[in-house]
Amino acid sequence: MKDIHAALRDASCADDYDPDSMSVETARQFIHRFLSPVSGFEQVHIRQALNRVLAEKLVSPLDVPAHINSAMDGYAIRSEDFPEGKTPSLKVIGTAFAGRPFSGKVAQGQCVRIMTGAVLPEGTDTVVIQEKVKLDVDNVILDSGPRQGENVRAKGEDLHKGETVLNPGHLLRPAEIGLLASLGINEVRVYRRLRIAFFSTGDELRSIGSPLEEGQIYDSNRYTLYGMLKRLDVDLMDMGVVQDDPQAIESALTEAASSADVILTSGGVSVGEADFIRGLLDKLGEVVFWKIAMKPGRPLAYGRIGNAHFFGLPGNPVSVMVTFYQFVQNALKVLMGQTDVMPLPTFRVPCLTPLKKAAGRTEFQRGILLLNNNGEWTVRVTGAQGSGILRSMSEANCFIVLPEAQGNVAAGEYVEVQVLEGMI
Ligand code: AMP
Ligand code: MG
Repeated sequence: MKDIHAALRDASCADDYDPDSMSVETARQFIHRFLSPVSGFEQVHIRQALNRVLAEKLVSPLDVPAHINSAMDGYAIRSEDFPEGKTPSLKVIGTAFAGRPFSGKVAQGQCVRIMTGAVLPEGTDTVVIQEKVKLDVDNVILDSGPRQGENVRAKGEDLHKGETVLNPGHLLRPAEIGLLASLGINEVRVYRRLRIAFFSTGDELRSIGSPLEEGQIYDSNRYTLYGMLKRLDVDLMDMGVVQDDPQAIESALTEAASSADVILTSGGVSVGEADFIRGLLDKLGEVVFWKIAMKPGRPLAYGRIGNAHFFGLPGNPVSVMVTFYQFVQNALKVLMGQTDVMPLPTFRVPCLTPLKKAAGRTEFQRGILLLNNNGEWTVRVTGAQGSGILRSMSEANCFIVLPEAQGNVAAGEYVEVQVLEGMI
C-alpha cells in the first residue's frame, strides 16, 4: 500500500497541488495512484458474470464460425460453372438448411438451395442470392455471372481456435456474455464483488419512516448512493445515519474498515465540520481533505482507514451525486479489476440558455439534451442549480461541464456535456 501522506508530500512539491483549491483533474489523478484491483476471485456461470470483471485470459476453444456457411438465402453454386460472360442454367438438387446440411456432393451444372447459416455443400464455393435468379421448374438461371466466394462466411472468420478472445480486466456486458455463449463457454473466473460500506452523517438527519421535528430533514443521500452503487454490482453494507458525534463516527468507521473494501460517507467534511472529523481520521488512518475547485462538490476527503479506501463526500444531495460520478465511480471500477476504464466522454453541443459561471472552478451544471427540428442535439440548463436541489438531477439527462477558465456562457455558445444515460 502506498503511503498517502508520503504521496501528499511529493504532490505538495508539485506546482499544481493546493489542498485548498484542487483542480478536478489533479484530485482524480491523485486518487488513481492508490488504486489497485481487489484480490479474490470466483468461478461463476456466464449469466452471473454479467456486470462483473473477467479475471482470466480467454482463448477461443473453436473456430467461429465452425464451418464455411452461407451469409444469405439463395443458391450454392460452383463458380467454375460460370466461364466469363456465361450464365448457364443449373439444376437444383436439394436444400441446405441451417443446422441441417445437404449431404450430397454438387457436380458440374448443379446447385443447392441454401438458407442463411447453412453449411456450404461439398463442391460449392459461392452463394447467389435468391433475388438474382429466375426459377424454371427445377433449374435456376442467373441474371449475371457471380463473383467467386460471394455471400460466403469463411470458417474461423470471426475467431480462430486458440485466438485470445478477452483479456483479464474486461467488463462483461451483454455482448461479452453472448460472445462467451457463442464459444460454448458456460463458466468464467471473475473478480470477487467489491464490498462497500456507506453511511450518512448529520444530527439533522432522520430515516424515512420516522416523523420530522423542527430543523430535521430526511436522509436522502444514502438512497442516491444506494442507487448509484447498485448499478455497479457491488456488495453493499448500508450502515444508516450516524450522528455528528466523534465516538459514534469512530465506531462506525472502525466497523466499516474491518469488513469493507471501500467506505463512503456523506456530510461532515465541509469547513465547519471537518475539524473534528479530521482529528478522528488522523487517528484512524490516512486521509486528505481537499477543497476542490468545482461546483457543486467543493469539500472532499480521500484516504485509507485500515485496508479500506475512504471517500468522504460532501453532504449536499447534488454534490454527493456529482462527486460520486466525477471521482468515485471510475475509482470503484479500477478496484473491481477493470483495466479499460474510460474517462467520462464529453461532446460539444450548442447551449440554448445563457449560463452564469464564475471563472476559477469547474462547474457541473445540470442540463437537458434535446434534439432540435434540424436533428441536432442542443442543451439547456435545468431550473435552479443549488447544490441541495436534487430535483435538478432528476430533471437532467446530462452534466454541462464548464472548465475552470470559462466565464459566463452566452446563448448559442458551444459547451461540453456528459451524458448521464448509459445505453448498456
Ligand atoms: P454537511 O456537508 O454535513 O455540512 O451538509 C451540507 C448540507 O447537506 C446540509 O444542508 C445538510 O443538512 C445536507 N445533508 C447532509 N447530509 C444529508 C443527507 N444524508 N441527506 C440529505 N441532506 C443532507
Ligand atoms: Mg453535516
